[in-house]
Amino acid sequence: MNREEVISLLLDVFRSSLDNTVHLPEENIDVPVLEEPLIGFAAAADPIFREFKKPEVIGPEWMAPEEWLEGAKTVIAFFFPYTEEIRSRARIAEGPINEAWKYGYPAGSALARKLSLEMAEKLEQAGIRVCTPLTDPRMQVKPVPLEDGELHYMPSWSTRHAGFAAGLGTFGIHRHMITEKGSCGTMAASLIIDLELEPTELQYTGIYEHCIRCGVCAKRCPSGAITLERMRSVKKCGEYAGYLRETYGGGGCGKCLVAVPCEHRNPAAL
Ligand code: SF4
Ligand code: SF4
Repeated sequence: MNREEVISLLLDVFRSSLDNTVHLPEENIDVPVLEEPLIGFAAAADPIFREFKKPEVIGPEWMAPEEWLEGAKTVIAFFFPYTEEIRSRARIAEGPINEAWKYGYPAGSALARKLSLEMAEKLEQAGIRVCTPLTDPRMQVKPVPLEDGELHYMPSWSTRHAGFAAGLGTFGIHRHMITEKGSCGTMAASLIIDLELEPTELQYTGIYEHCIRCGVCAKRCPSGAITLERMRSVKKCGEYAGYLRETYGGGGCGKCLVAVPCEHRNPAAL
């Protein structure tokens, strides 16, 4: 199977999905959740995956592709943009939470994860061995307190970092990926396979190359978690998420992902 055939198989799974809608109870309508994904490929032996073990990047808990799957040859990364139906409602919403994000965000992440399992099944039926790190029992996230009171999360796998290695995009100061389809999406899917496929050619060299440092995400952040100097404080953002859970019974924030120049495009490409 070559790269085009694998892409075709992966997109077929997405296009035939029956679950790509979410019900918004206040409006009493069903809206589509995810757009077709961007798909990137990285060689499992790419030295960048070893770099991620450095404490200043992710840390020693990070597992390289061959630690997840013996004989790993390729990492496949995905970025599923949220649909305009979800984004436009979240964009104009007033108040701390809105139902498009409250229901759409978790539905999109759950769907991406489910689709990755269906994609893995299809690849396995074609004789390809597959690991899906996010659903693997070895997947863990270790919080590491830093000296300045900030938190660093050290996961054994990160779909954002895999996406960077696979040519999907770079980071923004909000710490989300900025792809050619922006930041407002989910990356809750990754596949490691034992089939060698041509890697995606990276269109960037810098880690933050797609971020124009406009500061709009920082201005929109209700918790003061984002600054141009320090980027997103995961501690402040997490505490605000906890406040939303306690006060509104869930909903999530996501203000830094909509009504920003990197919502649905790469602002550095203009
Ligand atoms: S809103 Fe501006 S500063 Fe924030 S991540 Fe996007 S491009 Fe960067
Ligand atoms: S999710 Fe909300 S609180 Fe967290 S960084 Fe983005 S805007 Fe700020």
